[in-house]
Amino acid sequence: MLGAEPGDLITDRQSYVTIYTDIAKERMKNNQCPACGKPKSEWNRRTDWRCCSKECTEVFWKEHDKSLSWEIIRYRVFKRDKGVCAMCGEQMTWEFDGKQIPNDSQLVCDHIKPLAMDGEMWDMENLQTLCIECNKKKTAEDLANIAEYKKVNNKKKLHKTFKNIYIL
Ligand SMILES: [Zn+2]
Ligand SMILES: [Zn+2]
Repeated sequence: MLGAEPGDLITDRQSYVTIYTDIAKERMKNNQCPACGKPKSEWNRRTDWRCCSKECTEVFWKEHDKSLSWEIIRYRVFKRDKGVCAMCGEQMTWEFDGKQIPNDSQLVCDHIKPLAMDGEMWDMENLQTLCIECNKKKTAEDLANIAEYKKVNNKKKLHKTFKNIYIL
């Protein structure tokens, strides 16, 4: 599950991320239904659809769950940051096969700009590695910032409403 490589990530227009399994990728490359392998030439459905049937679409989305892709992107952030907390600089790794592997039970993948402030969920640039302790501090800061952000945004909305009334 954690063996995904860059290039497995295909971002679509709706800004969520689908990570295809190896077999699904192989089938799509060969013009087959990613769920059952049926060649497009035999489909009773438009061939620009993802799967050959409604049933296969269901199977496909069960296998390509979004929570799985979060697991992968999270680990990729830890790997990029070498398991080093962006706030305190402590490295949380354990040795495996002579290599230092991020210890993901001790790390949190944090949205630098919180989602509640319209931060990007899937953008690697908006993600950082934090240790559990620093994440607690960051969360407290985030909550304060989010409250402020909401205040400003509500004011803007209110302002807009007044303006509309004025125009009327
Ligand atoms: Zn199918
Ligand atoms: Zn830290």
